[in-house]
Amino acid sequence: MEDSTRPGAATLVRIGLVALVALWILGPSMLRSALPIWLVFLVAVGLEVQFLVGALRAGPQEPPDRRPQQVDLERYGFEPEEELGEDDDLDDDRDDLDDLEVTAEARPFLLPVRRFVLGLGLIAALVLTIWLVDNRTGWDSLDRPTRGEAAARFSAEASRIAGKEVSIYCDESRDYVGAVQHADGVAIVGGDRAYLTPERCYDLYRLAFRDEVTWSRTARALTVLAHEAWHLRGIGDEGTAECYALQSGVELGRRLGLSQGTAERMMRQQLAENALRGAGTAEYVVSPECRDGGRLDLDASRTSFP
Ligand SMILES: [Zn+2]
Repeated sequence: MEDSTRPGAATLVRIGLVALVALWILGPSMLRSALPIWLVFLVAVGLEVQFLVGALRAGPQEPPDRRPQQVDLERYGFEPEEELGEDDDLDDDRDDLDDLEVTAEARPFLLPVRRFVLGLGLIAALVLTIWLVDNRTGWDSLDRPTRGEAAARFSAEASRIAGKEVSIYCDESRDYVGAVQHADGVAIVGGDRAYLTPERCYDLYRLAFRDEVTWSRTARALTVLAHEAWHLRGIGDEGTAECYALQSGVELGRRLGLSQGTAERMMRQQLAENALRGAGTAEYVVSPECRDGGRLDLDASRTSFP
């Protein structure tokens, strides 16, 4: 039977954690917004504590199946210690065993505690890595005038969609976004200000100021800005706001630097993804009327949709 306090389980957890953090940093932005990484670290710390407690409870006992059994010694008739020296893997294994044995007998708490400290050190290093990545890249890495210029541009574009003067704020303190029902932005219906997450603002900034496009992220950021703008215009229904946003997103994308064809393809993909995403967030699903010639078609004269 596998004992969870053995180093094998802890090692697997740590490898998994490193892989997850790497994926979180380098992977799709959907993972970033969907997976609260701090919760992952909390679970990791919890597991380390569990390993420590388990190891301390188990005490200085040896895993019995790893020792050469008396019956084996009798059967093979030699001291395995001498024979094992020729095999590197087994040699390492034996060294670990000796280490465990000596440490365990002399100071039974030292080895589990050392492993625990090592685990915590790894978690701390990963936390630091994410903190550095967050600070050196993204919206927070831009200087204040640049962020102001970008927010002014977003506000101007949102004002065109809302049909009135509105302000877009990139919520650096995250006071608004994330706490309310929207994951990416929030606006009061019919109001004059909306808040976007720094991630969405940064994707919009990259498009508008650097001509940098990351396909699905750029598409999502355009949709979110347009979606909040429609809320400001007075559309309260989420599905309707999203459907209108996908249509406004084409012109918005074009104005921020995309070609007409690229902007249309992006919004068409967003519409297709909407159906997939909808399962968890029912109020976001656009209605069947969100189609060319449908009730929610803003421009009946155009034959492509969105
Ligand atoms: Zn909304």
